[in-house]
Amino acid sequence: MISVILDKCVGCSLCIKVCPFGAIKLVDSPRACVDAFGRGEAVGKKAVIDLDKCNLCGACLESCKFGAIRLDKKESIIKKIKLEDYKGVWVFAEQKKGKVQSVAFELLAKAKDLAKDLNTEVSAVLLGDNVENQAAELFQRGADNVYLVEDAKLASFCDEAYTKIIVKLIEKYKPEIFLSGATTIGRSLMARIAVIVNAGLTADCTGLDVDKEKRLLLQTRPAFGGNIMATIICPNHRPQMATVRHKVMKEAGIDKNRKGKIIREKLNDDALFSRTNVLQFVEEISSTVNIAEADIIVSGGRGMKAKENFILLEELARVLGGAVGASRSAVDSGWLGYSHQVGQTGKTVCPKIYFACGISGQIQHLVGMQSSKIIIAINSDPYAPIFNVATYGIVGDLFEIIPKLTEEFKKARQ
Ligand code: FAD
Repeated sequence: MISVILDKCVGCSLCIKVCPFGAIKLVDSPRACVDAFGRGEAVGKKAVIDLDKCNLCGACLESCKFGAIRLDKKESIIKKIKLEDYKGVWVFAEQKKGKVQSVAFELLAKAKDLAKDLNTEVSAVLLGDNVENQAAELFQRGADNVYLVEDAKLASFCDEAYTKIIVKLIEKYKPEIFLSGATTIGRSLMARIAVIVNAGLTADCTGLDVDKEKRLLLQTRPAFGGNIMATIICPNHRPQMATVRHKVMKEAGIDKNRKGKIIREKLNDDALFSRTNVLQFVEEISSTVNIAEADIIVSGGRGMKAKENFILLEELARVLGGAVGASRSAVDSGWLGYSHQVGQTGKTVCPKIYFACGISGQIQHLVGMQSSKIIIAINSDPYAPIFNVATYGIVGDLFEIIPKLTEEFKKARQ
């Protein structure tokens, strides 16, 4: 689909500089590249594109001053769809043991905002066994409709049946936007659906907005190792699909008077068929506090200097009834286990109070905690970026400050 027109390429290497994927290199061309008047090089350096690395972004095309790169969009293989046929914002109401998970309520809050901007409705998609009783809360949290599919085979999540059923719903009702939590289930499910319905999917979004005029979902997520925040759009395909991590967004409030419509879908055995069955769930036995659920988190970074110093944070967390978190540097140093890591490659948290002790505040850490209600940063460097997001900043030596805080909170509790 992409190729270099050798006769036009002058080997200037501009395309190499702009290619984000390192997919282009210059090689000695064995072909004679002379024009009709005999001008030009007989041989020379020419660009070649490594198709295994290229993702057809088109950056080289725009950079080439000689029109030497051709990108053929094979329209024939792209199923033409009428974008205007697609309406509504859908949320996958993930349930476990028959109870809708709170990530769905977080997505409903965002879905309501998006639907308002697009002047459309919010719908939840609920699959399970005997889960109709969950629809009321989905309405109270903002859904106008609940697409409900119930069957004993759907009690627990199974990739195959869930995918087939939701694909059928999408083909029938044509949602404009479809959101899911970036949970283990959501990640597995949405990728499968996106491939079948020929849509794009932006995983792990940290922000969602909408371009009202073009009706485009603006899907923001960290890119290039977290060094930039990229906003991704899906202009030619529907639905526009995204997953969002748990705790990135605030839950929708409850309005007890809100009601909605249940759209019950009966599907045949073929849709329910799955080659795998869930036999049993074995809960993970863990003695550590789950930081994703904690109201107060006391996190430490490289500034803690050593593993044994984390006792200071444990004491503070104990007095406050909180959990201990860590930056990746602290986890990589072996001071705390990975289950404590906060950030892009760790957990996303949204506690009422987040203490960042000896954490500089790099973007990869911030994306995991910046939606906390109150952020208290303790750092000896007054210019540390953590202070840009902190509600309260304490500039000083954490080894002096933390014991004092613990002491004061202890007194206050007595
Ligand atoms: P540093 O940046 O070294 O900061 C230490 C801070 O401690 C400094 O600000 C210093 O002033 C302060 N300090 C030192 N001594 C004291 C003292 N006595 N009293 C008070 N303050 C003191 N990082 C994460 O946290 N989570 C992630 O999920 C994550 N994912 C990543 C993914 C990718 C792809 C990449 C490339 C990086 C990722 N990182 C992640 C790493 C991130 O870029 C930073 O390197 C890391 O967050 C820095 O950790 P830190 O703030 O503890 O250490």
